[in-house]
Amino acid sequence: MAFVILDPCQGEKSGECVTVCPVDCIEEGPDQFYIDPDICIDCAACKAVCPVDAIEEEYDLSSDQEIFLEKAEEFFANR
Ligand code: SF4
Repeated sequence: MAFVILDPCQGEKSGECVTVCPVDCIEEGPDQFYIDPDICIDCAACKAVCPVDAIEEEYDLSSDQEIFLEKAEEFFANR
């Protein structure tokens, strides 16, 4: 399981999540921050500090939010 950063991050990109992640798996992309789903340990620390409530657990995503997990997988696959 992993947490996923959704569209409220776009245009905000405050980055508090990067500071608190214990496994350093959040990186800045061109449009928003992304969580590496292969490294995330599901601790929820990032969700607690996000000022725009942009972070959700993978299994809580609605069908129209699943694209953000795919975007994260692509972002880390293409680095
Ligand atoms: Fe990092 Fe924890 Fe957030 Fe996963 S849930 S991205 S491990 S802070």
